[in-house]
Amino acid sequence: MSCVFVVDALQHPCTPVHPGAARRLLTRGQAAVWRRYPFTLILRRTGPPAPTLAVTPAALRLKLDPGSKTTGLALVDDATGQVVWAGEVAHRGQRVRDALLARGAIRCGRRQRHTRYRPARFDNRQRPDGWLPPSLESRISNVLTWVARLRKYAPVGALSQELVRFDTQLLQHPEVDGVEYQQGELAGYEVREYLLEKWGRRCAYCGATGVPLHIEHIVPRSRGGSDRVSNLTLACKPCNDAKDTRTAAEFGYPEIAAQAKRPLKDAAAVNATRWALYRRLQQATGLPVETGTGGRTKWNRTRRGLPKAHWLDAACIGASTPAVLQLRGVVPLSITAMGRHSRQLCRTNAYGLPDKAPKATSVVAGFRTGDIVRAVVPATSTKTGVYVGRLAIRATGSCNLQTATGTVQGIHVRYCQPLHRGDGYAYQYQKHGGAALPPQP
Ligand SMILES: [Zn+2]
Repeated sequence: MSCVFVVDALQHPCTPVHPGAARRLLTRGQAAVWRRYPFTLILRRTGPPAPTLAVTPAALRLKLDPGSKTTGLALVDDATGQVVWAGEVAHRGQRVRDALLARGAIRCGRRQRHTRYRPARFDNRQRPDGWLPPSLESRISNVLTWVARLRKYAPVGALSQELVRFDTQLLQHPEVDGVEYQQGELAGYEVREYLLEKWGRRCAYCGATGVPLHIEHIVPRSRGGSDRVSNLTLACKPCNDAKDTRTAAEFGYPEIAAQAKRPLKDAAAVNATRWALYRRLQQATGLPVETGTGGRTKWNRTRRGLPKAHWLDAACIGASTPAVLQLRGVVPLSITAMGRHSRQLCRTNAYGLPDKAPKATSVVAGFRTGDIVRAVVPATSTKTGVYVGRLAIRATGSCNLQTATGTVQGIHVRYCQPLHRGDGYAYQYQKHGGAALPPQP
């Protein structure tokens, strides 16, 4: 059963309780709702005395299955095998990259216009040791955020993390190891030397040797191709010019494109972030972090007859996994990283030129985009009814509401009651646990 988190009046986490016990606490006035997502109660200071809830330090183990798109979370009681709570965090990854590319384009456009002198700023940046691309950094931040939040709601005494999924580099580039591998990218000369070695110092398309070779994107940058080594090859100038903005497959070399089609992009993201996450988890929490491999996770999951799901994988990480996992009635919470704001002051067209009105406010009557609200629209309105959803603010006050069934437009903030203030994430409970579970004891 997905338990309900409870904190005492001083906001110290107590042992999570069965939903029935939580309902009794609420109906007897011994507790109030503290957070909607994840659902958390706070014991009242006054009123009828609340029962003493056992707080055993180090009672629960928080298990993490970091993925490139989704990270599975599971709170497990090692002593009983009970999965107390489960969730899945969907990361922003690609959207972070897109936003930064868009920002770069806008700044580029601004430098072309007749504005004050603006010195070139492209080669004055330094990257500190351990730098990760912003898209990967955002994944780590998402996970650290949720570890910190769950520690506020429940007594977490230990962490488990899947550290090694599989060794992509060993699968696809057995000759590469070490720092390059952990950074996920090879830099500068390393890339060139690596490509020369890999493609036999010849043009990948016509096989020409002894001519100047260019680094060539198999899927061109203009078509969304990345700078990872898995998307790079070598071409002589005639081939490079002839290929133009076509992909290698369109140019008649599908075997070269086949390499780019391997899911290296996702795997590399996991590998680049997993060690960084591991170090930061230790640093930020001071808790013991157990590590496990993907192989062990799969073995644990298969042995228990469980289907593939991010939260089930998380529950199965590591050697500490209890022999029997109690999963009956666990409903995982889908958590989607949404970002909080855009700092862009004016929307622009594809060329970075402002072509729309400046962005309006995102705060109306105390509500802001991302708040989860309950709107009771009276019968006098054509939108009459009760809606629960995530608010998208419009300056007029007549806003959009993202509900479980779709977007409802034209809901005025005067009808809204806040349920959960915007915290950078969107939430949804997965029906039927998101996966077909075998019969539970
Ligand atoms: Zn060539």
